[in-house]
Amino acid sequence: MSALTAYDIDPNTITIKGTHFIGGQRVNGAGQPLDVRRPSDGQVYGYIPCATADEVDAAVENAAQAFKQSGWATMPPRDRMKILRRWADLIDADVEALAPLEAVGSTRPLVDVKAWDIPFTAEGIRFYAEFADKMGGDVAATSSDKLGLIIAEPYGVIGAISPWNLPLVMGSWKVAPALAAGNAVVLKPSELTPFSMVRLAELAITAGIPAGIFNVIQGLGHEAGDALVRHPKIAKVTFTGSTRTGSAIMAACAQSGPKPVTLELGGKSPQVVFDDIKDVDKVAATIARAITLNAGQVCVAGSRLIVQAGIADTLIARVTTIFQSLRAGPTWDSTATLPPIISAKQFDDIDAIVKRTLTGGAELITGSGRADGPSSGAYYTPTILSGVNQTTEAVREELFGPVLTVQTFTDEDEAYALANDTQYGLAAGIFTSDLERAMRGMRRLEAGTVWINRYGRSHDFILPTGGYKRSGIGKDLGRQAFEANLKFKTALIEF
Ligand code: NAD
Repeated sequence: MSALTAYDIDPNTITIKGTHFIGGQRVNGAGQPLDVRRPSDGQVYGYIPCATADEVDAAVENAAQAFKQSGWATMPPRDRMKILRRWADLIDADVEALAPLEAVGSTRPLVDVKAWDIPFTAEGIRFYAEFADKMGGDVAATSSDKLGLIIAEPYGVIGAISPWNLPLVMGSWKVAPALAAGNAVVLKPSELTPFSMVRLAELAITAGIPAGIFNVIQGLGHEAGDALVRHPKIAKVTFTGSTRTGSAIMAACAQSGPKPVTLELGGKSPQVVFDDIKDVDKVAATIARAITLNAGQVCVAGSRLIVQAGIADTLIARVTTIFQSLRAGPTWDSTATLPPIISAKQFDDIDAIVKRTLTGGAELITGSGRADGPSSGAYYTPTILSGVNQTTEAVREELFGPVLTVQTFTDEDEAYALANDTQYGLAAGIFTSDLERAMRGMRRLEAGTVWINRYGRSHDFILPTGGYKRSGIGKDLGRQAFEANLKFKTALIEF
């Protein structure tokens, strides 16, 4: 834990003193302090000041001022690109200080944060740096004595709100395209994982991003988050989190604007497996990982296994073996393979749904309840439930835990009827050796992302991600997320 000294440690209580980051510096804040707990052992290890409405206002005003006066939006785009690249390099170089800030208080294992989350964050910023001089726009000559221009411009100040499950990655997916397009940003990270984005903001200043262009405010969603969304100088809102909060934010955007909003929301993603798969072990490993990675606390978690009857018993047995081999342990234990659930409340919510599902007649294949191992922290045993149907709560609701439901099918029509019978449409997987079947499935699945014979993304930043149905509006990543941070002006010139 010594690397935490890179932050402000109070030596008497060993707590991290969280701050806002406004106008290029840490700001202590006058709001009520809020304890922050480590999910790995439930201990309080820091606190944040909850931003008051005045502080939210100050942060947005500061950003609006910086947007007008700092030259960020008007500098040669390749200069902006170089600064963003430098920022990415600084993030990579800061891994030893940044990793504990990210891992200790979240559900992300320290080894993974070093090997994946931080390099992935930096590379995503590099990806968007490349867009800085590709703002688009167009020339549309409507006749010989007229010239039409379509000009791309940044919005101004973007209000960004991010979740706790992958704090740096999710936060940077909001901030990087917005900054590359020349906007200023005020970000509110989750109150459960508030510290790492402030360090990212400090590194942004070192890289040369002008003070006031990237700000972080701390606080609760319904207070600081709501005040941010509703602020009259917030030109656009970008949000990642639950569908329920997304709906509230969209309503707030309508009432205080209307202002545009990008929503990356929840999911209940199916993994559809046909009995022609060649390598059952490989598919079993992929399916298990898709719902146990980060203990299932991933928006695209493959939480519904929909498997053809002929292969069901074999596949479920292999997935069960993998589930039972996972070992719960704190995020700083490099041998642990199952991280904690983010909070005791989230643990209780998962457990309650599993219990109600079992009481309702489902069959428990493995798991449920507290995992063996650590005496404190909220570790949930990877769980498989069968004997469920479309009315079962565990099939309908996003649990955000390592819980897999299993349903069987006989033909393609049945498979996709089950897969699509959900309010969500974030992601889906198809496993088959038949290319034509895979292509048919890709079309039939109602989801923003369809993976075929794999599940999850690597460094494919060019591929946008975002939900169909109640899983969201708009996209993160890809050119689409960059363009969502631009507004387009039309000019018509007559000679
Ligand atoms: P959440 O909706 O509880 O909170 C997300 C953020 O919104 C937090 O910063 C919170 O403080 C803030 N917030 C809460 N109420 C608010 C309000 N009324 N106004 C403004 N801000 C408010 O979500 P969470 O528990 O942090 O994250 C888990 C959820 O996020 C899951 O549903 C998951 O599927 C989803 N998620 C989606 C994606 C995606 O790309 N689609 C990615 C990661 C997580």
